[in-house]
Amino acid sequence: MRFDIISVLPGLLESPFAHSILQRAQKKGVAEIVVHNLRDYSTGKQKSVDDYPYGGGSGMVMTIPPFAACIEKLKSEREYDEVIFMSPDGETLNQKIANQLSIKGNIIILCGHYKGIDQRIRDVFVTREISIGDYVLSGGELPAAVLVDAVVRLIPGVLSDETSALSDSFQNDLLDAPVYTRPADWNGHKVPDILLSGDTPKVEQWRFEQAIERTKQRRPDLLE
Ligand code: SAH
Repeated sequence: MRFDIISVLPGLLESPFAHSILQRAQKKGVAEIVVHNLRDYSTGKQKSVDDYPYGGGSGMVMTIPPFAACIEKLKSEREYDEVIFMSPDGETLNQKIANQLSIKGNIIILCGHYKGIDQRIRDVFVTREISIGDYVLSGGELPAAVLVDAVVRLIPGVLSDETSALSDSFQNDLLDAPVYTRPADWNGHKVPDILLSGDTPKVEQWRFEQAIERTKQRRPDLLE
């Protein structure tokens, strides 16, 4: 699976993909993540990528030509399944969307800044708009990193223990059960006996019951 992320601040995206699971996925060749500097596609003298908004008002708007040039170049090289714009007014990211995207081939992600991007880029190129939550960040880079992380860890072969993604929160509309590790007794706070029993079916049953209980308490909406 390949992600092409178009950003005016590519430096913001260096670290999120350079560690842990995301790094391993790229080394294994399961995921390819390429970040493109939007300014490289600006023909303006100052390499500008924004301009004043028509109609006045505060804030700058990202212009069409650099995005259009970058998207068109990428599209001339390969087919894309989605062109995603990270935007607070998009559909809110959830595990279902991450699952849907994890079976795609090539995805372009656009990161906005300032007041956002010219509406016509959205009208002409964008196939899907995704928000990471009801709050506003200064740019689309962190949201893009969140999206790519959520998707890549679901690609088969990325997690070493594949079942661990299946038992994660939201995967079956349930939150995950609590987890424990050594020591079995920490200052009198003990690990539930069942987890020390070695009885795998019983442990699985306990985890399932805990997951339901936790979901009832914290996210009853998921059980509906
Ligand atoms: N004026 C816009 C916000 C612009 S914030 C509005 O009110 O909708 C600048 C950029 O940051 C956005 O274009 C988007 O790419 C990114 N961004 C900010 N918050 C986000 C969120 N919750 N989810 C996804 N992207 C977000």
